[in-house]
Amino acid sequence: MDNFIVSARKYRPSSFGMVVGQDTITNTLKNAIARKHLAQAYLFCGPRGVGKTTCARIFAKTINCGNISADSEACDQCESCESFNSSRSFNIHELDAASNNKVEDIRSLNDQVRIPPQIGKYSIYIIDEVHMLTLSAFNAFLKTLEEPPPHAIFILATTEKHKIIPTILSRCQIFDFKRIRVEDIIYQLKHVAEKESVSFEDEALHIIAQKADGAMRDALSIFDQLVSLCGKSISYRNAIENLNVLDYEYYFKITNAIFNSDISSVLLTVNEVVEKGFDGYNFLLGLNNHFRDLLVSKDKSTLTLLETTPAVRLRYAEQAALLPVDLLLRVLDIGSDYDISYKNSKSPRLHIELALIKMCSVFGDLNSEKKNPEVTAVQQQEVEDPTPDKQIYKTKPEPAGKTEKIAASVKSPSMDIGKTKENQRSLSIKDAIKATAKANSAKSGDQSFKPEDSPSQTGGSKPMDKAAFLSLWADFVERYSSDGPRFSSMMKTVVPRYDENKKTIFFEFSNSDQRDLFVNNYKQKLLAIINQRGGNNGIELVVEVESTEKKEIIYSDTQKLQFFQSRYPNIKEFIREFHLTI
Ligand SMILES: [Zn+2]
Repeated sequence: MDNFIVSARKYRPSSFGMVVGQDTITNTLKNAIARKHLAQAYLFCGPRGVGKTTCARIFAKTINCGNISADSEACDQCESCESFNSSRSFNIHELDAASNNKVEDIRSLNDQVRIPPQIGKYSIYIIDEVHMLTLSAFNAFLKTLEEPPPHAIFILATTEKHKIIPTILSRCQIFDFKRIRVEDIIYQLKHVAEKESVSFEDEALHIIAQKADGAMRDALSIFDQLVSLCGKSISYRNAIENLNVLDYEYYFKITNAIFNSDISSVLLTVNEVVEKGFDGYNFLLGLNNHFRDLLVSKDKSTLTLLETTPAVRLRYAEQAALLPVDLLLRVLDIGSDYDISYKNSKSPRLHIELALIKMCSVFGDLNSEKKNPEVTAVQQQEVEDPTPDKQIYKTKPEPAGKTEKIAASVKSPSMDIGKTKENQRSLSIKDAIKATAKANSAKSGDQSFKPEDSPSQTGGSKPMDKAAFLSLWADFVERYSSDGPRFSSMMKTVVPRYDENKKTIFFEFSNSDQRDLFVNNYKQKLLAIINQRGGNNGIELVVEVESTEKKEIIYSDTQKLQFFQSRYPNIKEFIREFHLTI
């Protein structure tokens, strides 16, 4: 069995010219060597696998080379270079601070530093993971770093610059290594693949480069892993299957389904993804990134921000052309909201599904405008409604929309979030409502607390009065208060208004999300309670969103201020009194 050397080691750059993606740093170091302006301490910081230690080694080799070339590269032939290349150089000392982080280790280093080099001009000390040193070790090191012997050069490397004490930082020349760009990683991967005579599909290398997240070492390890799994030919399909990367096809597919408000297809795709063993949360993040990429594809000038192959870029451009920017922003907004609240969700799958259903509803409006044949009866009515400023959902026609059915079937009984703060607050509101209702019913001698067995459907029986409604409402709030914070926050802002004469209950919500939650999940339940109490003699539920929300989306600080001023006129006074400005 011949010795297999991992690509990360085999193709480790041995000269500045071979370092990938850190041109600024290598040029600065080369200039320092050419001008003989060497500092005594350097700090290389940056994420792992981007070439810090490699650069430190090349730098160390080059400054000790007896025959530096015109463009400041080591000759690789002199005695110093040869001893370095065969790892027997006495001039270059590498210390891993992660395992040598104690004061004693640093003290022995301090002793060692005083000994001048046998060959070459400099002794170079490369201290890796320097942030792992204990505080006392740092302090022991400080003295040496302050006044090192002229032959000593320190190169400290760390992934966590913020953990280095300021006294150390101030004594070092600091170099910040960047994550390596996807294109640069691909370039290097292609080079390695050619050397190893591995054939590849461009998109497969893209997947590797993206997965490596800016680290060359990771990219090469992944490459090795794939070669050992798939042999001398790497295809896109191999790559996504073996690297557990979610195929972008899913994102294109689900975006299409969202665009068509095709909730069934959306839910089936999620199911497929989950069954393949992918984490729902990563899927949501991936989808958000997909929307971001679509947004970027809307404009030719930002198209370059899309890190993918030209073929895939074209597909992004095609899909982006179908989606209006404002709607794209809205789904992105929903995606990021659900991303933030994911952690607190007790039912992660449902959480993802709700996010997607909501995204569908964004495009539902657009589709109904297009007079899509799939438009639901409820939406149709909304379009035909003569008052343009109000989105009204009426109960009477009642063929439950597609959205409603599926949302109900998705709803899991395990949604109980327990007694959160939100919940407790909503309880107090509920108690207040109940108290009012009891007081009212006591006054009017109302019978509505008794269960009624024979609800009359033909109308004409006792109409529900205000107190009866309030009591019923309180029962409704109590029954579903364990549904979680979303229900609670919805209940905090909505105040139902019951008009006995018009037999109508008005609900005004502060935003369309809450309205949708109510319409999709709770409207039927409330109606059921009303029916149970025998109060439904043609009572209508009218659901509205406060008009401020629909007129415009508030973006700027000025708009926010205007909004608050319109709600709370005292703010104007306040601003004038204290001479406030934005
Ligand atoms: Zn040399």
